[in-house]
Amino acid sequence: MNIVMMGVQGSGKGTQSKSLSRELDIPHISVGDLFRENVGKGTNLGKRAKEFMDKGELVPDSIVINMIKDRLEHPDVKAGCILDGFPRNGIQLAALEYLRPVEHAVLLELDKETAIERLTNRIECPKCGIIYGMNMPPKNPGVCDKCGGPLTQRSDDLNVEAVEKRIALYHKEIEVLVRYYDWKGVLRHVNAGLPQKEVFERIKRFII
Ligand code: AMP
Repeated sequence: MNIVMMGVQGSGKGTQSKSLSRELDIPHISVGDLFRENVGKGTNLGKRAKEFMDKGELVPDSIVINMIKDRLEHPDVKAGCILDGFPRNGIQLAALEYLRPVEHAVLLELDKETAIERLTNRIECPKCGIIYGMNMPPKNPGVCDKCGGPLTQRSDDLNVEAVEKRIALYHKEIEVLVRYYDWKGVLRHVNAGLPQKEVFERIKRFII
């Protein structure tokens, strides 16, 4: 089963995708995480992506699509995957429909004010990828519950202007996806303002 998770930054896409990945036993592919991994390792791809990421702009389609195409060729995604952060525009949507048509497109809906509040307050463990926020603070401030390592704020969440730009861009680009998946009959709306567990239950009700 192939699922696309859509939602504004801060809507809990990553967290919900991880839970769903465990539940369905299929990989979670996060475009943002793939880029951050490459930035962390200092690869050429990472270097090219970073200049766009830091400005809150989308990385060019050719780079993203090739990265996803490579990832979808791995044997672990044969039975399906959860795509988080891809597609983000009409070109990427067309590429994905060609490479791997999806059965469900989940839209996590959240208002702009809550999204900004969540983003500017979220911290994560760079090692485990666990995201903490106001709804789920770490037991000890600044320390990861799982590995005990230091928590950091994502560089692209530090600048409120860049955060607002990312949100505005999201709304502009997501419209075509919503219209297409709605037409295809695979669009599932979920209120992302609800508690995390309730959001997950609602997603599962649609999918399983
Ligand atoms: P995210 O983790 O989804 O907030 O993504 C972080 C950054 O990665 C974004 O601000 C973009 O620069 C880049 N990015 C993530 N997904 C995409 C995509 N589908 N297309 C282009 N750039 C992306």
